Amino acid sequence: MAAIPEELEQHWDTAPQDALRWVPGTSLAALDCDAAPGWSGRKTEGTALVAGRAEELADLQERLFAHGRSGGDRSALLVLQGLDTSGKGGIVRHVVGLVDPQGVEHRGFGVPTEEERAHGYLWRVRNALPRPGYLGVFDRSHHEQVLVVRVDGLEPEDEWRGHYDELVAFEKEIAGRGTAIVKVALMVSAAEQKARLAERLERPDKHWKYNPGDVDVHRRYGDYVAAYQEMLDRTSTPEAPWYVVPADKKWYARLAVTELLLGALRGLGLGWPPADFDVEAEKARLAAA
Ligand code: ATP
Repeated sequence: MAAIPEELEQHWDTAPQDALRWVPGTSLAALDCDAAPGWSGRKTEGTALVAGRAEELADLQERLFAHGRSGGDRSALLVLQGLDTSGKGGIVRHVVGLVDPQGVEHRGFGVPTEEERAHGYLWRVRNALPRPGYLGVFDRSHHEQVLVVRVDGLEPEDEWRGHYDELVAFEKEIAGRGTAIVKVALMVSAAEQKARLAERLERPDKHWKYNPGDVDVHRRYGDYVAAYQEMLDRTSTPEAPWYVVPADKKWYARLAVTELLLGALRGLGLGWPPADFDVEAEKARLAAA
């Protein structure tokens, strides 16, 4: 594998896992969304490190896929939550896009359909969990049940408050079945969110991304931060910790998620599955063919 220049990695003063892991009780409102926790380099170096990670990331994902093909039960799940305009789509393109799409199961969670509403809120999530060998990517997730549902008052408080414990139990269950979970919360500042919405209005090529409801979401920025605060505090567990990623600098958010995903795939510790046939005998047969 091509070596990454050591000086690039040295720009991590603190490992991203340590710099970004949510410590329950920390004030989310006080987070500097323009910061680059743990990283002392500039944008150019951060972007270069992401590019440099591509080969290892692809290699680890292929090992995971091979493991699944050989009857293994491990999988990985990247949960992307974030305030509106925080760049979830860019993470999927620039980070998840580094690996073979054939091994990725991507799923976005929008407003539940009629069919989905007829079931419990975890039904559609269970159906979307990655199969063994796959990297699942959730663009929004089961956590919306304590975010938009809370902020928009879609359920009474005693109902959505009951979901925290359910979310924890659910993630414990899927981690117990062999899924490495990486939960990322991307946080943009209110000013940056407004600027990104304004840009969508300025640029005809971005109008398709704009929805008049985005202004109402922006007005409720503070309510969302409060909802994220409690979600982070109540659903950060050893099996499924939250990583809170400042996202005003898109390059930093992409760098951080690259490193978090890489760490999770490394943590699976997968080698290449051994051949279930006699390699030497096959070589001889092929040579004689
Ligand atoms: P994104 O901003 O994630 O790119 P989008 O604007 O393209 O998304 P969709 O992905 O179709 O739109 O839907 C996202 C919307 O679905 C968000 O407004 C979100 O609040 C809403 N949503 C997601 N989960 C739920 C839920 N459980 N209940 C109600 N609304 C939900």
